[in-house]
Amino acid sequence: MTLSCFELGERMLSVDETLEALAAMTPPSVATHRVSLAAAGGRILAVDAVSPIDVPQNTNAAMDGIALAWPDDAPAGDMLVDVVGDVLAGARLATSLAPGEAVRITTGAPLPAGADTVVMSEQLADVGTPGRVRVERPERVRRGQNVRQAGEDIARGQRALGAGTRLRPQHLGLLASLGYAEVEVFRLLRVAVFSTGDEVTAPGESLPPAGIYDTNRFSLQGLLSCLGCEVIDLGILQDDLDSMRASLAAAAREADMVVTSGGVSVGQADWVKPALTAIGELGLWRIAMRPGRPLAFGRIHQTGGVTVPFFGLPGNPVAVMVTFLQFVQPMLRRMQGEHDWQPSRFTALAAELLKSREARVDYHRGVYTSDEAGQLWVRTTGRQGSGILSSMVTANCLIEIGDGCAAVEAGAPVTIQPFGDLT
Ligand code: AMP
Ligand code: MG
Repeated sequence: MTLSCFELGERMLSVDETLEALAAMTPPSVATHRVSLAAAGGRILAVDAVSPIDVPQNTNAAMDGIALAWPDDAPAGDMLVDVVGDVLAGARLATSLAPGEAVRITTGAPLPAGADTVVMSEQLADVGTPGRVRVERPERVRRGQNVRQAGEDIARGQRALGAGTRLRPQHLGLLASLGYAEVEVFRLLRVAVFSTGDEVTAPGESLPPAGIYDTNRFSLQGLLSCLGCEVIDLGILQDDLDSMRASLAAAAREADMVVTSGGVSVGQADWVKPALTAIGELGLWRIAMRPGRPLAFGRIHQTGGVTVPFFGLPGNPVAVMVTFLQFVQPMLRRMQGEHDWQPSRFTALAAELLKSREARVDYHRGVYTSDEAGQLWVRTTGRQGSGILSSMVTANCLIEIGDGCAAVEAGAPVTIQPFGDLT
């Protein structure tokens, strides 16, 4: 049974329960459109890419040398071969070779009919007779060697890439090798981002005595751009119910998701919860994790029964990044069509005692290294306060200490999430 935001209420949720609830509340993937292959990098494939051809198209030479029709009576000693023509890349020989005959061939050129073996140039010796060569050390030549079979990479009709693939350079190259000039991808997601707080000051302005520069809007924009989202930057909202309500409602009309930071605690100046309740439905979630409390998730109602998902992230800059990576990222990836995504996780040995607490997941900022034996080790970046953003800067992973664990002894295994595409 799927729990709604309201049913989850004020109960403390585990990280896994939160992920499950968010997965159930994720809106369907956005619409699709066709883009040119050159513009498709980073986009998510919307339909399976099926190969219209065999790749390679022809059985061809993997080396420069001769393509040989293996003689039925291959001699035990030197092998003399009649070279009856040349096949350069891009050309194709119409006639077929008789056993023992060969053609000179360049890498990638199609093997003529009858040929089944390629002997590389370095293994051929001139015998002084035009049209004849000697294969040196023929005992080192195997029938069928140095030949790439038609369709050995991808056969015609085979699924080359699945829908939901985020297109990296290798995927673009593969699609090009199948002849795709355009592909069907999910459209770009538009995500509106606000910071909140009377003390929060835009970089470039002078810092008031009790001010703090707006960090979160920029780290969030960075995360969103790395995910391939269009960011609608809506600036800084004052701690004021009316303006917050109006701004969030306006943002939801333009965006596929609205993300704010700060103002979700239960302090006097925390207006995100009442603002959301006025224009949609909101759950203020207490998640058993650190950093990352509290987090608001909800939906902003639109006309026509449409709802726009809303994340109210904590205010502290490290908590913003950690909760984005753990919770916002999977939802955005699903909405983008990348359904099978999971964070990559490895096991490393703790290089020092890592303190945590049972019944909550701790995400320390860590640095992992590999020793001479190839064993991964991880240590923390030092002080772990959720406002200490330099801990993210010096880290190369998050150390994830599960909720069944009060501490990880030095030398004991622990899970790490290496920084990947986004961080
Ligand atoms: P709040 O939940 O609004 O009380 O915020 C928690 C802490 O995060 C406070 O110390 C805020 O000043 C700080 N904070 C909130 N928003 C930002 C921001 N955009 N950039 C940097 N710090 C922030
Ligand atoms: Mg605030």
